[in-house]
Amino acid sequence: MSLIIAHRGASGYLPEHTLEAAAYAYALGADYIEQDIVLSKDSIPIVMHDIYLDFTTNVKKIFPNRKRKDGHWYVRDFTLSELKKLNVNERLKGDAKEKAFSNRYPLEIGTFKICTLSEQIELIQGLNKSTQRNVGIYPEIKNPSWHRKEGLDISSVTLNQLKDYGYASKKDKIFFQCFDSNELKRVKYELNSSLPLIQLIGNNAWNESDDDYSQMISLEGIEDVSKYAIGIGPYLQLLYRVSTLDGVIRPSKLSHYARDNGLYIHPYTIRKDSIPLDFDDFDKMVKWFASELKADALFTDFVDLTIQAIR
Ligand code: CA
Repeated sequence: MSLIIAHRGASGYLPEHTLEAAAYAYALGADYIEQDIVLSKDSIPIVMHDIYLDFTTNVKKIFPNRKRKDGHWYVRDFTLSELKKLNVNERLKGDAKEKAFSNRYPLEIGTFKICTLSEQIELIQGLNKSTQRNVGIYPEIKNPSWHRKEGLDISSVTLNQLKDYGYASKKDKIFFQCFDSNELKRVKYELNSSLPLIQLIGNNAWNESDDDYSQMISLEGIEDVSKYAIGIGPYLQLLYRVSTLDGVIRPSKLSHYARDNGLYIHPYTIRKDSIPLDFDDFDKMVKWFASELKADALFTDFVDLTIQAIR
């Protein structure tokens, strides 16, 4: 059965990447909880999806004069104690006015705080002790080349902290993910990490890294990935094609290449409020990825609904 990864915690129900969202994802039955990671000014791993603070915090109100010339407030420009002064809100759209998902947690209710990677790991490990479950972590290094330009080595800092918490080998309950193939190779061959690595695959238009993802999804590209990673994390649409003859949804070439090369497949992102038009409804989408594709794990904003659909 597909493992369930809580994408940014229980982000369908609570502001993403907060401790509340992690605790709720845990309670809903996730096998792994995801942490996106960026570094603060004092080089502390912070659980945040964006290098910007603009779309998930009230930074504009608290530090109105701390934006850069490009109009963005950067996590990297604030110390942890400054970041702790901010409140976290439900994610906003690119115009920073409306919510990205209109039916999710209200903007005007609640007091949520930015958390560090260590705070989130301690919460999960504490729950593992009190519940006798063994929920894993699934950290993603965000924009390593950007961090390097800023003088920060996000991989080394994060790997050291993970080691302090007992995540250092293939047997530990962790997957380590990144969009940047050069960084994953560096993690394996230069930083000598034996963590299981997942190569995320995006769309070139998103500028997630310098990789050419159209090349990466070719047979040659996937053979290369299989040398350093144990699995791939592609967005949903890369993994199927809809037959023009009979309308049936079948696994894409990429899915076959990944299987043939022994790679796990961890698709992102299952959302009840953003379903690809190729699927009639949420349950059919989840069932296709879990039963037809037999995905090894699924990233989902809705842990409970995904588990229900699979069962
Ligand atoms: Ca992520």
